[in-house]
Amino acid sequence: MPAAFRSAFAPCEQPDALVIHCSDPRFQKHFHEFLRAHLGLDTYGLVAVPGGVQFLTAIDYLPKFSWVGWRWLKFLVDRTRPRRVILIVHDDCLWYKDSRFWQHGGDWKGAALSDLAKVREGIRARFGSLGVETWFARIDGGEVVFEAVGL
Ligand SMILES: [Zn+2]
Repeated sequence: MPAAFRSAFAPCEQPDALVIHCSDPRFQKHFHEFLRAHLGLDTYGLVAVPGGVQFLTAIDYLPKFSWVGWRWLKFLVDRTRPRRVILIVHDDCLWYKDSRFWQHGGDWKGAALSDLAKVREGIRARFGSLGVETWFARIDGGEVVFEAVGL
């Protein structure tokens, strides 16, 4: 195996998007395929953490996470000026299904969709005209289906 790997570098002035999704390894290739093949994104900034958008809503439970998360977003929006923001939550999310979040009565999907809407509104409130698209990635047999949410 060669000691180095080379990849063509093509700087861009403005990325197509800023994307926030979960870091669940089972979904990474599906997220990537969706962003590239369906949305046609060529360049995008990415924040991938357990639970995706959840870290931006944990003001009561994890206030420092939320503070840092919004700082990261402000930095990425100010410095890279993405054309739009893509938010994705997904089926069978281990983070949302973790018992620490059972205050939502076990309705992890409802909590994830609620957080998706909260973050969409938070981004609109903070960054004005920046377009925000929200998606749910659902497992359907042997496929992952990406469905638009709250259009
Ligand atoms: Zn997840």
